[in-house]
Amino acid sequence: MILVLKQGTTREKVDDICKWLSDSYGVQTSPIFGSGTTIIGLVGDTSAIELEAVEMHEAVERAMKVQEPYKRANRKFHPDDTLIKVGGVEIGGNKICIAAGPCSVESEDQIKMVADMVRDSGAALLRGGAFKPRTSPYAFQGLKAEGLMYMKRARESSGLPVVSEITNPAQLELFMEFVDMIQVGTRNMQNFELLKELGRVRKPILLKRGFANTIDELLMSAEYIMSGGNQDVILCERGIRTFETSTRNTLDISAVPVLKSRTHLPVFVDPSHAGGIAWLVEPLAKAAIVAGADGLIIEVHNDPKHALSDGQQSLTPEDFKSLVGRLRPVAEAIGRSI
Ligand code: PEP
Ligand code: MN
Repeated sequence: MILVLKQGTTREKVDDICKWLSDSYGVQTSPIFGSGTTIIGLVGDTSAIELEAVEMHEAVERAMKVQEPYKRANRKFHPDDTLIKVGGVEIGGNKICIAAGPCSVESEDQIKMVADMVRDSGAALLRGGAFKPRTSPYAFQGLKAEGLMYMKRARESSGLPVVSEITNPAQLELFMEFVDMIQVGTRNMQNFELLKELGRVRKPILLKRGFANTIDELLMSAEYIMSGGNQDVILCERGIRTFETSTRNTLDISAVPVLKSRTHLPVFVDPSHAGGIAWLVEPLAKAAIVAGADGLIIEVHNDPKHALSDGQQSLTPEDFKSLVGRLRPVAEAIGRSI
């Protein structure tokens, strides 16, 4: 349920209403002080609350039931776009944020070098996998804790905040120390025990859509994290599995505007894993920007032919640089910047 309060309701009054609602109905309240109006979102069993009874309150303009099962992630709860700070970088505003870097961290020198190059080309965040969820147990599994330490050092040398994928709640302590944003990969989008743990921490989460999950399921996974207390969730469309075999996955471009209408959370697109081929990154990235994405996550490798994972879809740092040059006017055409 959502209560829209009358203009000019004081913070004190808002606190009183929240206390009254939680004392009388046992629901959790989250007030959102927006530009102009204040909204109180109610979560929990609201079935005993009658809209008319709440609307009788002098400060309440109107009350509405929220039909969707996701509450905190719902745009009705929070009409303004949410801005999330990752290191010093703001995500969800006018500026489109690009995270770039290799699929896997391969050495300290490699990640530092790629970090400097993508930063100079316009990336705002550095990506790099250390715990790799590979389809084959015989494939490179990542440098694990050592890889995360190299990410931290690359952050120190380049100044870019870093993002890396977690695969197990037992790794959480390491991630809290070494990264600025924790990525949940497509294979773990419904690892609910992991999501619950991530709800307890204070660190932004990049939640990628499961390759066989619906948009509603993605929003419910965000709700798992948010209901635990962590509101800093960025969603990422990275392609879903369809009958099409020409591309690694099928980029669900309509997920971007659909998500933007249903949720206030920022939305990223990963054109690298969606297409699975380096030359497809550019058209998919352009489409993502025009569709309204708040950010892109792009794989960039110093030597794609010899990459230990995902070389076929990785750009060279030089290609990344020219790509960003061609993405800037696309962003500007819709009133945004990179
Ligand atoms: C990745 O970012 O390297 C990755 C494994 O992504 P996804 O979970 O989308 O496949
Ligand atoms: Mn990859």
